[in-house]
Amino acid sequence: MERLRQLLQRIDGQGYKAYKHLGGSYDFNLFRLSVDHVQGDPFALPSRISVQLNGAQHGLPAAFGNTPERQRALEDFLGRALDGAIRQHCRGCRGSGRSGLIAIAVNGQQVLKRNAVLATENGLEARLLFALPGSGRCVAARDAQAMFFDELPRIVAQGLNWNGRSLKALQTHIESVEDQQALRDRLPRLNAVAFIADGSRLPRRSGDDDRPLHNAVAFRSPAELRQTLTVPNRGAVSGIAIPRGVTLIVGGGFHGKSTLLQALEKGVYDHLPGDGREQVVCDPSAVKIRAEDHRSITGVDISPFITTLPGNRRTIDFSTSNASGSTSQAANIIEALECGCRCLLIDEDTSATNFMIRDRRMRQLVADRQEPITPLLHRVRELYRQYGVSSVIVCGGSGDYLSVADRVIMLDNYRVRDVTGRAARLAGEPPQAVRENPPFRPEKIRRIDFSLAPLPRQKQAKIVVRAGRQLDYGNRRIDLSAVEQLLDAGQMEAIGRILAWCRQHDPEQPRGLIAALQQALRQVDEQGLDLLLPWKAGHLAVPRLYETAAAANRLRRQRKTDT
Ligand code: ADP
Ligand code: MG
Repeated sequence: MERLRQLLQRIDGQGYKAYKHLGGSYDFNLFRLSVDHVQGDPFALPSRISVQLNGAQHGLPAAFGNTPERQRALEDFLGRALDGAIRQHCRGCRGSGRSGLIAIAVNGQQVLKRNAVLATENGLEARLLFALPGSGRCVAARDAQAMFFDELPRIVAQGLNWNGRSLKALQTHIESVEDQQALRDRLPRLNAVAFIADGSRLPRRSGDDDRPLHNAVAFRSPAELRQTLTVPNRGAVSGIAIPRGVTLIVGGGFHGKSTLLQALEKGVYDHLPGDGREQVVCDPSAVKIRAEDHRSITGVDISPFITTLPGNRRTIDFSTSNASGSTSQAANIIEALECGCRCLLIDEDTSATNFMIRDRRMRQLVADRQEPITPLLHRVRELYRQYGVSSVIVCGGSGDYLSVADRVIMLDNYRVRDVTGRAARLAGEPPQAVRENPPFRPEKIRRIDFSLAPLPRQKQAKIVVRAGRQLDYGNRRIDLSAVEQLLDAGQMEAIGRILAWCRQHDPEQPRGLIAALQQALRQVDEQGLDLLLPWKAGHLAVPRLYETAAAANRLRRQRKTDT
């Protein structure tokens, strides 16, 4: 600590590059500081530091992190505690560029595994961005001293030193995550794809604010569907289980159908206590399926839904750089099945109508042999019976789906009712087959070219997350704006780096794309996210296989120019 103080004094007022001397590790009594990367100038990406605390310094009982779930919850909690402490104690930007900024990457409403805080039996480590202050392009040592010796110790003490403090909130956090995991683990035995507990609050504050809506109508299960489960910490939890098979969510416009489906989409992740969705869990393999005009598709067999296209284009190996609504939705399903998805989540609001249905009169006007599309309506039962893939479909407009549903749930003023019996009486016969349809072949092997080249004028290929959920993979662009279960920039960058890892370690993909991605994700699970970067950083978060594959499947061809 004293050595750092003297170093700073010595370089005060010198050119900004003199900060490079700070690289290294320092003993700060309450923690150990290491300066991992020093930025080149005050306008560059901030410097990276990390702090380490041993057991005596952090004061947390070992049992808090003794399973993977508990460890993830603990790290998440500590990240949020540090973030709060930064807001309180960091005086913020001063001087040129980002001078003075301190930041940590934290989760939103979900509890993802990240590499910003690592809690192991050896102690805690937290990784922070730390923008070394400059005045013009010179070292501002006095400001730097305030950051290192005043702000940082307060931040670390508040976020990571738990000696003698109440651990109640932390314990609640860990137990909540553990319960969510237990609830999700129960789904197969319940023969269910999802569970929604009574009292859950599903709606969000706004389209760009994922926190719970104030005064939301709490979820209440209808007595005829109510089930009670037991979880390890909270005990009994009542609610409804959505059974395997085909489930429809019906109801009038604005009665909460999409909100319910969106809660299921996010139910593949654990949530913060207080989020309102912390007892809404979904099959971890569930994938939101939607139409996605203009997406790029590479070598997907969409023939189970679309046989031929104009100009006799074959569809068993379909590629395009500009898909239509129906071809994109078909590809989204086939790609999800390839990943082992066991539950499709579909909202008519975001579907292509001609992919979902074709009604009697339209079949009279346009003969079946002229229409290459077999709508999902005709295959959704078979997907369940033959392939074990359930569907939950929000459907306010078309009654045709009633004939293929196992369960129909009605939303009425945000309240759920079971209308399966009434729906069955109205349903009529399931639709007649349009034609002999090719089988789904989820095991079919497909490869994606992961080549990574720099943009013109760049020396090295970069992986950069851009605004609007665009991922730059060297000179190639991946549009992830319609991949709804992808959460944040940390996952996006991790995905880009996983593709690059596969390119390096499994370039031939002998067992196909999905096996290659699974292998990479297994390595990340075993060795941590640090595997993906040659330097120490804290901004990555673990993605699911489904979103990783979604990115691989949307890789576009190389761009010639930087646009
Ligand atoms: P639908 O898909 O049935 O048309 P939405 O799910 O889009 O309806 O919901 C319509 C509006 O109602 C949204 O603004 C949503 O935030 C709100 N909403 C949904 N569920 C609830 C609830 N349980 N309590 C209060 N508001 C809700
Ligand atoms: Mg809707």
